[in-house]
Amino acid sequence: MTDPGGTATTPRGLLAEGERVLLVDHHDRRYLIRLAKGASFQTHAGVVEHDALIGQPEGSEVSAWRRDGREGPARRFLALRPTLADVIVKMPRGAQVIYPKDLGAILFAADLFPGARVLEAGVGSGALSMTALRAGCHVTGYELREDFARRARANVAELLGPDAPFRVEERDVYEGIDETGLDRVLLDLPEPWRVVEHAERALAPGGILVAYLPSITQAAELRAQLGRASFALAETFEILRRTWHIEGRSVRPDHRMVAHTGFITAARRVVGRASESGTLDDEV
Ligand code: SAH
Repeated sequence: MTDPGGTATTPRGLLAEGERVLLVDHHDRRYLIRLAKGASFQTHAGVVEHDALIGQPEGSEVSAWRRDGREGPARRFLALRPTLADVIVKMPRGAQVIYPKDLGAILFAADLFPGARVLEAGVGSGALSMTALRAGCHVTGYELREDFARRARANVAELLGPDAPFRVEERDVYEGIDETGLDRVLLDLPEPWRVVEHAERALAPGGILVAYLPSITQAAELRAQLGRASFALAETFEILRRTWHIEGRSVRPDHRMVAHTGFITAARRVVGRASESGTLDDEV
């Protein structure tokens, strides 16, 4: 695989040509660039030469020179390799991505593990795909839209190289799932209750279905459908993340927070049929 710098999958050592680097200014504005010899990055604050970064350790500061040629304090940028969260919020998107706070929760709700066989639908921009691939899963994605499928493939290849165990099929998951013996099914689309029967057949016993939904009425409809199928231990929750302002003696929650993103519902495929309480009925 072509991976100049050899660092797409092993982000260590000195910053190398071909790698992505996050530049952060003193206002915490962030820019994602790919290092190329002789190239320069233009911002409102001036110009950063890539050559000043290539061969430097992560965490170095680099100066931008002013385009107007005037004297003045040089703007400085901190240079670091981007985390997966940085990449996700910066990458080109076709569809809305799931944000890192929810991806972290999904990682555990779905218990994603190395080698897990995962079916994901829809794939969108590939943020959830990247999370699963990073956890070592083998991911097959179903995505309705050809342009989104292409975008997701490109985003994944940029992060993990072209050999990542990721295949996207352009198709409608409501019409069925071909795979069988799956470990996990991950759903981020408007009507996941239409996938429950397919997932029931496609998942191995003990497998986990996780769905991400913006509205609680959608979550309730999914729960009703799960209750009619062979799923147990269903739960629905949301993640509230409140950051804090900490500066000297001023220590308090930040004034603003993202109040709502989505609800996460998880359930396990079982052999019998789940009852209302989510435990198994005696008679089945
Ligand atoms: N989880 C993704 C975002 C998914 S957006 C991420 O984190 O990047 C929802 C996607 O579902 C859209 O791309 C949409 O085209 C796709 N979609 C909607 N209905 C679908 C269906 N029935 N089958 C497959 N994909 C579907």
